[in-house]
Amino acid sequence: MTRRRLLLAGGAVGLAAAVGTVWRPAAPLADQSFAVTYTDAEWRKRLSPAQYAVLRESDTERPFTSPLLHEERRGTFACAGCDRDLFASTTKFDSGTGWPSFWAPLEGAVGTTQDTSFGMLRTAVHCNRCGGHLGHLFDDGPKPTGLRYCMNGLALGFKPTTA
Ligand SMILES: [Zn+2]
Repeated sequence: MTRRRLLLAGGAVGLAAAVGTVWRPAAPLADQSFAVTYTDAEWRKRLSPAQYAVLRESDTERPFTSPLLHEERRGTFACAGCDRDLFASTTKFDSGTGWPSFWAPLEGAVGTTQDTSFGMLRTAVHCNRCGGHLGHLFDDGPKPTGLRYCMNGLALGFKPTTA
């Protein structure tokens, strides 16, 4: 059911692009139900404007701007929207792209959708608890998965392991 709805949404986006409509990638997952939901006004209060743009409007932060790029302590990267743990520091790697990158998420932490914005077919990654946009998924990552979760640092927080 969810998958079908996403496919339909993708079709609508494709159509909008085809007829030259200016399409803004706002809240692409708004029709899905997530465990953590807030109204748009509440999200604006909870998040900084830059975080809101990424998490709720699928914006992309400028590369090499996130302090988390250089976060090399042991710990967990969590969703800046709902605090769900998303990535373990042991799966983080330096992709050279300027965005925090991971080769695997924590079990069940994230979901993906097809993103056709900007005339590209990409796989967008979102938090499975609040639906917040996190970044994109590519298949040119390192072993063992070969995947590259290219994340916006603005969408993440870091919790160092205390032990
Ligand atoms: Zn979240």
